[in-house]
Amino acid sequence: MKNLSERDSQVLFHPFTVFNSEGRNIPVIGGEKEFIITEDGRRIIDAVSSWWLNLHGHNHPYINQKIKEQLDKLEHVIFAGFTHEPAIVLAERLLEKAGDKFKRVFLSDNGSTAVEVALKMAIQHAFNQGAARKSVIAFKNSYHGDTFGSMSVSERDLFVAPFAQHLFSVDFIDVPTDETGEQILADFEKLLQEKPAAFIFEPLVQGAGGMRMYPAEWLDKLIALAQSQGVICIADEVMTGFGRTGTFFASDQLKNKPDLICLSKGITGGYLPLGATIISEEISKSFETSDDKKAFYHGHSFTGNPISCSAALASFDLMESTDSQKDRQRILDTFLGWKDEFKYLPFAKDIRTMGGIFAMDIETKDDGYFYTNPIKKVLYSHFLERDILMRPMGNVVYVMPPYCTSDESLERIKKAIRDISA
Ligand code: PMP
Repeated sequence: MKNLSERDSQVLFHPFTVFNSEGRNIPVIGGEKEFIITEDGRRIIDAVSSWWLNLHGHNHPYINQKIKEQLDKLEHVIFAGFTHEPAIVLAERLLEKAGDKFKRVFLSDNGSTAVEVALKMAIQHAFNQGAARKSVIAFKNSYHGDTFGSMSVSERDLFVAPFAQHLFSVDFIDVPTDETGEQILADFEKLLQEKPAAFIFEPLVQGAGGMRMYPAEWLDKLIALAQSQGVICIADEVMTGFGRTGTFFASDQLKNKPDLICLSKGITGGYLPLGATIISEEISKSFETSDDKKAFYHGHSFTGNPISCSAALASFDLMESTDSQKDRQRILDTFLGWKDEFKYLPFAKDIRTMGGIFAMDIETKDDGYFYTNPIKKVLYSHFLERDILMRPMGNVVYVMPPYCTSDESLERIKKAIRDISA
């Protein structure tokens, strides 16, 4: 009888995985807090929150209980013409966090769909008003998902190369820094003359682009300029939402609020698929008409799934607990400490941290495209041998653990980073 890894390798196609080079997939039989429990009994620290999803730990008794309660009432129902309490309460709670500017929430399945919905709404907002707005502006080095719309607004790199000619055209600008900000602002102003429909960005941290962090000030200026010209600003908070950057939304650190906010990943505490797009009152209004040519003809079979919504509500409760707030502060402080300590590591470059995210670049001889830096595989194995799951993006090592991660586990991660032999 073949073992699970062998059977897996014959029938499954895994995401973001290069065949034959990344070894067998490890069978997992359980989870507890920050640990992934494997078939052969290892307890691996999930230092990347299983792709930035998990907030409160695996197999959390409170989320489990809330899901079970919902399961005994209703598993799913069509969300056109019908509704239910978990979706309504979730929308109310998201809107309360987002603030007065926002009016409605559109639910979907994942981060890419939350982005697709936002892009389509921004474009249709112009259409519904009879305005001739077409193009979209995005940041270079961004990542917004794997569907065609979200790929179009992402960096035109390795991930999207095979599809390049099928993507819609987008104007890309650099992420502004103190040195380049004025010039970028001036170029942005010129682009605005073309009357774009939307400007999309990952606020404060570009995740898949290598955990690149940038200050709120310049983004605030870009948003102000865009909004003064009627351009819809889309904050893709799929990664940054739910406390990852130190505030509930990264946009909370901005003076100028976006018009649409995309959420997923942490929304259910990392339990179940769910996407949400939070919509400003102004955008909502252009759809609030009985004219069927102005309706938003978009939806997914599992839109508003009640079990996903109940997981999201449970995760919301946990986020607001004093324990979670203390944990988030504890991790933030720990990472600030690491930033100081790691300065002396000879291979550490550009050490950065924001909220519950820590990242640094590893100095290597290879100075090509960061993501394909061969050190990635060496580092992945280095951590896994120490029972720590990290997925370095090329030479970028980052840590984004569940908020419940113990000091002992953080210490183990820190030691493993110190022990890298680059
Ligand atoms: N936007 C951002 C900022 C992301 O980081 C991701 C996923 N890494 C997505 C969108 C796409 O989310 P999903 O994988 O759930 O489609």
